[in-house]
Amino acid sequence: MATTRWLYLDMNAFFASAEQQLQPALRGKPVAVVPTMTDRTCCIAVSYEARQFGIRTGTNVGQAKQLCPWLRLVEGRHEQYIELHHRIIAAIETVLPIERVWSIDEFACRLSLQHRERAPALEMAGRVKQAVATQVGRHLRCSVGLAPNRFLAKVAAGMRKPDGLTHLGLEDLPDALHPLQLGDLPGIGRGMQRRLEQFGVRTVRQLCATPPETMRMIWRSKVGEQWSRWLRGEDVPDPPTKRGSVGHSHVLPPELRTDTGARAVMTRLLHKAAARLRRLGYAAGRMEVEISQFGDGPAWRVTVKLGGVQDTPTLLKALEAAWECRPRGMQPLKASVTLYGLTAPQSLPLFADHQQAIRASRVMDAVNAELGPTALYFASMHKSRDAAPLRIAFTNIPEVAFEGARDPRPRGGLRRAD
Ligand SMILES: [Mg+2]
Repeated sequence: MATTRWLYLDMNAFFASAEQQLQPALRGKPVAVVPTMTDRTCCIAVSYEARQFGIRTGTNVGQAKQLCPWLRLVEGRHEQYIELHHRIIAAIETVLPIERVWSIDEFACRLSLQHRERAPALEMAGRVKQAVATQVGRHLRCSVGLAPNRFLAKVAAGMRKPDGLTHLGLEDLPDALHPLQLGDLPGIGRGMQRRLEQFGVRTVRQLCATPPETMRMIWRSKVGEQWSRWLRGEDVPDPPTKRGSVGHSHVLPPELRTDTGARAVMTRLLHKAAARLRRLGYAAGRMEVEISQFGDGPAWRVTVKLGGVQDTPTLLKALEAAWECRPRGMQPLKASVTLYGLTAPQSLPLFADHQQAIRASRVMDAVNAELGPTALYFASMHKSRDAAPLRIAFTNIPEVAFEGARDPRPRGGLRRAD
C-alpha cells in the first residue's frame, strides 16, 4: 500500500553529538553540554555514553558529576549548533525537500508519490541518513521515522534511538503503537496523562480505542479529534502553531546577516506562511514582520493591516511596503513573518487582479503538491533584482537559505526553481 507519506528526522542527543563531532577528543566519552560552568545548573544535552550513568537532559550538574566523576562538561556553543543545523538541512535537501523544520534538530519531509511504498520509502530514508553522515558528520547520528502522517512519523522516529530507522505503515496500525507509553507520544506530558487517566485512559491501546467524541472532551477542543485521525494514520494538516496565527522565523546564517539577506529570507518565510495559510483554508487579517538584531540593537517590528488576504502576490506587496519603512543600518540576526487574524476567505474577491492572484497562488500550490515543494514560487519583487547577489533557493522550508547559484536574478511572474 502506497501510504508512507512522511519522513521525520530527529538528531540524537544533538548538542552533545555536535560537540563529539567538533571535538574528536570527546568521542566515545560521557559528555554533558551545560549553559554555564557551574554545578548549580542543569545538563541541556547528554551523550549516549553519559546516559549509561543515569544522567539525562535536565539532570543537575552537581548530581551528574556524582553519577559519573569523569563526565566531560562542555559549555554550549549555540552558534556552532546553528551552523550544523543549516548544514544538516542542506544535506537532507540533496536527497529530499524539507516540508517543515520543527526545531534545531527535527525535520519533517513529505515523500513524493514514487516513494510512498514501504521499500522505496526505506531506501529514501537510508539515503537521507547517509547524506547527513557523509556531508555533515558521522558522529551526528539521527533517528528516522516513516509513516502515513507527520505525527506518526515523529512517533516512529522516537521508537528507535540512537541511529534508528522505523517504518509505520497503515497496515501496522494501531497494533504497532500499543507497546508505547502514553508519555512517548509527542504532546502528552504529565498534566495530559493525569487528564487522560480521569477518563480511564492509561495505555496507548486504550487511547487508540477512544472514540473521537471522547477525545474531543478530553482535549476540550477539536484537537482531540485531530488526535483520533492522526492515530488512525490520516494525513491531516498540522494546526497553526499559535492559535489564530501562521508564521515562521529563521535565525539567519552568517552570510545572510545583511539587509539583502534578511529581505530575501523574509520573502521566503512569507511564501511558506502563505502556502500554509491556504492549505489550512484561511485568509489573514494582519501581517507582522520582525527583525531581531545582533548585539544590543532594538528589534524592528511592524504590523500591516491586510483585510482577509490569502494570495501570495498581495502578501508580497504588503511585505515590500513594510520593508521600505525599516530603519537603515540594522544588523539582522533573526527574521520572522507572522500572519494573524485568520478568517475564512471571502468567496469572491472584488477586483479582477486579486482574483487572478488567488488563482495563480492556487496553481502554484497544486503544482508544488504534485511535483514537490520546490517546483514553483513567485519571483521576488523587482526591486530586489539588483540587490540580490544570493539566490535564495525556495523550498517549503524558508527557514533555510542557500548561498550562491546560477542565475541569481529573480524574474517577474512564476518561475520554476531548479
Ligand atoms: Mg533530537
